[in-house]
Amino acid sequence: MNTSSEKRASDTSATFGFEDVAPAERQGRVNEVFARVADRYDLMNDLMSGGLHRLWKDDLVSWLAPATTRAYRHLDVAGGTGDVASRVVHVAGPAAAAVICDISEPMLAAGRRRFATGDLAGRIAFVAGNAQSLPFPDKSFDAVTIAFGIRNVTKIDMALAEMFRVLKYGGRFICLEFSEVTVPVLDQIYDAWSFHAIPRLGQLAAGDAESYRYLVESIRRFPRQDVFAAMLEQAGFERVSYRNLTGGVAAMHSGWRL
Ligand code: SAM
Repeated sequence: MNTSSEKRASDTSATFGFEDVAPAERQGRVNEVFARVADRYDLMNDLMSGGLHRLWKDDLVSWLAPATTRAYRHLDVAGGTGDVASRVVHVAGPAAAAVICDISEPMLAAGRRRFATGDLAGRIAFVAGNAQSLPFPDKSFDAVTIAFGIRNVTKIDMALAEMFRVLKYGGRFICLEFSEVTVPVLDQIYDAWSFHAIPRLGQLAAGDAESYRYLVESIRRFPRQDVFAAMLEQAGFERVSYRNLTGGVAAMHSGWRL
C-alpha cells in the first residue's frame, strides 16, 4: 500500500526511462518514441529479442486458452501492430473478434496495414485510446491482455482498474511484460545485451539509439514479479498468479474477474 506521502510524490513525479519527468509530460514523451519506431517496430522486436518475443506471445495465448466454441470478444490493450490480437483470433477461430486499443496512431496505422488483407482481415478492430481511460463500456470483453504495454503507461493502477472494469464476470486478464531476471549469470548477460547491444541495434537498424535506450531503461523501472502481482490484487483481480519466461527476462501475470 502507498503511504499518503508516497502517493503525493507519485502524483507529482513520473519516470521516463531513468529520467524523472512531470506526469503530464510523460505520455507525450512515450508517444514520441512509438511514433519514431512504428514503421520498424516488428523488425526491431525480432532483432532485439532474437525472435523470443514470438515464443512469449505464443505462451501468452496458450495460457489464455481462448474459448473456441462460442462468440468470443477479446481486448488487447496497447496492442500496437497486432501480434497478440492476431494470435488470439487465429487460435479462437471464426466466431472470435478482437479489438486493439492503443494510444499511438502511427502504431495503429502499422497494424491496420499489416492486417488489411489475408485471413484475419476485418476480424481485428483498431481503436485509439488511453489504457487509463478505456473507451469501452463496463463488462464488455471475455478477456483482456496487455503485452509489453503496461510499463509505458503513466498510472499503472488506473490502467489495471480500467482493464478490470471492461472485463465480464468470469473473464481473464493476462499481462506479458519484461521483468526481473531470476537466474544468476543470465542477469549479467542480459544487462550487457540491454544496455550496450540494444541501443546500438536501434542506431544501426532504425537510426535511433535514444528510443531504444528508453525501452531498456523503462524495463528496469518496472515493478518486479511479486510487487506487480500485488498490484493486480489491489485492482480487484482474483486468483492472481504469474509465470516467468526465459528465467524472468519476461513474465506473464494472470488474474480473473470473479
Ligand atoms: N503489444 C504490442 C506488442 O507486444 O508487440 C506493442 C507493444 S509496444 C512495446 C507498447 C505499446 O504501448 C505501443 O504501441 C504504445 O503506443 C502503447 N502505449 C503506450 N502508452 C499507452 C497508453 N497509455 N495507452 C494505450 N497504449 C499505450
